[in-house]
Formats: sequence, C-alpha cells, structure tokens
Amino acid sequence: MARLDYAAPSTLHEAVRILADAPGAATVLAGGTDLLVQLRAGRSRPVLIVDIKRIPGLIGIREADGGFVIGAATPCAVIGEHRAMREAWPGVVEAARLIGSTQIQGRASIGGNLCNASPAADSVPAMIAARATCLVAGPNGPREVPVETIPTGPGRTSLARGELVVEFHLPKRPPRSADAYLRFIPRTEMDIAVAGAAVNVTLDAGGVCTEARVVLGAVAPTAILVPDGGAALVGRRLDEEALRRLDAAARRACQPIDDKRGTIDFRIKVAGVLARRAAGMAFARAGGH
Ligand SMILES: Cc1cc2nc3c(=O)[nH]c(=O)nc-3n(C[C@H](O)[C@H](O)[C@H](O)COP(=O)(O)OP(=O)(O)OC[C@H]3O[C@@H](n4cnc5c(N)ncnc54)[C@H](O)[C@@H]3O)c2cc1C
Repeated sequence: MARLDYAAPSTLHEAVRILADAPGAATVLAGGTDLLVQLRAGRSRPVLIVDIKRIPGLIGIREADGGFVIGAATPCAVIGEHRAMREAWPGVVEAARLIGSTQIQGRASIGGNLCNASPAADSVPAMIAARATCLVAGPNGPREVPVETIPTGPGRTSLARGELVVEFHLPKRPPRSADAYLRFIPRTEMDIAVAGAAVNVTLDAGGVCTEARVVLGAVAPTAILVPDGGAALVGRRLDEEALRRLDAAARRACQPIDDKRGTIDFRIKVAGVLARRAAGMAFARAGGH
C-alpha cells in the first residue's frame, strides 16, 4: 500500500508551506465527510493529508463590519446553531442544515462543501446568492475572491497548488433583506440535490424588490448565477409576472445532466419551480408578500 502522511499544522503559514512542499499530491482535510469516502473508494490518492482544524480562526463565526466571517472548517452544525446568522442569513443557514444528517453536520464544513466542487453542493448556491467572498491563502500570499470563482467543474477548483480557503465573508445586510434555499431530492433526507435554488432579495419600504440574486445548483457543471432571474424580480413586488419571468430565466440557464435521479426535462422544470418558491420565501422573510 502507498504511504500516506498526515500533518496537523497550528498556523496558516505552516499549512501553506507543507501543502506547497509536498513531494506529490497533498490534500486539505476539514471534516473529512467527502475526503474519507473518496480515499476509501480510491478516487483520491494523495501522499499527504493536511488537517486544517487546529489552525486558529479556521473554526468559528465572528461578526465583523456588520457582516460575518466564517472559518472555512466550521462545521455546518455550528452555523445552524448561530442565532445571529439564522436571523441575517436564513437561506445560508437552511442550506447548511440540509447537508447530510445531524452526524454529518457535526463534521461537514462549508469550506469542504465548496472545495469538493460537487455541482449539487447545497451551501454553494446560497453562498453565491449571498455575495459571499472567500479568503484564499497560498504560497503567493492571500487573495479574496467571490465564492463562485472557486468551483470550475465537477470535482475541480481554481485553487492552485498550496492554496486553501481560510474563511468566508458575508456582507452587511441592508434592511428588509432575506434569502432562502430549496432543493429537490427523491428521498426525504440524506440524498443529493437533483436541483436547488437560492434567492437573496432586498426590498424597499413598499415591498418592491431593489436587489436580487438567483442561483441554481445541480443543473450545470457548477452552481450558476442567473442574472436574468434577479432582473425578473428587481423593480417589482412578488406578482405573477415577476414569478413567470423568474421561472423562464431559471429554465433557460439550466444545462443539466440526465441520470437515474432526474431527466434533463425534469431538472429544468424543477429548477424553475424551486426558484419561484425560494423567491416567495425570501420575499416573505424580507417583509414583502
Ligand atoms: C452521508 C453523507 C451525506 C451527505 N449529504 C450531503 C448533502 O445533503 N448535501 C451536500 O451538499 N453534501 C452532502 N454530503 C457531502 C459532504 O458532507 C459535504 O460536501 C461537506 O460539506 C464536506 O465538508 P468536509 O468538511 O467534510 O470536507 P472534506 O471531506 O474534509 O473535504 C472535501 C474536499 O474539499 C477540500 N477542502 C476542504 N476544506 C478545504 C479548504 N478550506 N481549502 C481547500 N480545500 C478544502 C478537501 O481537500 C477535499 O477535496 C454528504 C456526505 C455524506 C458522507
């Protein structure tokens, strides 16, 4: 059996150095709920695993500049129990709380959910809709990038050798803002999204939408931002015409696969329905109707 080394550095600097200097493929370990399955199945064959959970700041949530900073290895359970996060970002929190089960959420991190780069990852559409950015550390220094720039295709990311995601930044919320995430799975739980939709809106005092982001998951090689979907909502209350245009925009954006869990036609239809329903939830939470 090939040799596999394990390191658990206590500083970011050390983690980057170990990752960059590894004599072969080196892999970050957060909760391990994807990685350990892949190792056992032989789909990932690193020479070195670098556990990032001992690095200060990689686990935990803090409020900063009116928004939130979430350590990349923070388990979804911690996000789900964070009262201020639940109030400010109910859609991000409900996405994190859909991942796996209670046991899985005790380990599974949003950094791992993003960097595993599954098109069906539940937290990713919600984080993109939230305009979340992430801080990436690497041998060439830190960079801050929008979350949507990290996954580039199924199982592939834009991270260079030696790079890791350190933390996520969620911006300050204007008043009357809210988000929502919905997914469809064939079973009641513990399944992978066949389609998912996240909607994030800001309303004015009269309930008219002033800003909207619509993101779909599981219907393309990566989660996709649907600018036409947001445009369908801006300048309107949640009326039938807005919902009809949102549904049409969501359907147009889909490039799904056909597999045993859902045909192309089914995924496209469900994406439109979920976008409409998520918009309804986001508007209601933001104080509109
Ligand atoms: C039973 C079961 C049910 C599941 N259900 C769902 C579900 O409903 N929805 C869903 O979206 N997912 C689900 N998953 C998948 C998995 O739990 C999530 O993707 C989880 O969020 C991964 O986080 P992790 O911390 O465990 O990542 P890990 O397994 O530790 O890492 C995953 C990948 O990301 C990389 N990585 C991790 N953190 C970083 C970082 N900070 N910087 C760079 N690279 C990093 C690792 O190298 C690895 O390639 C399920 C998994 C299981 C086993």
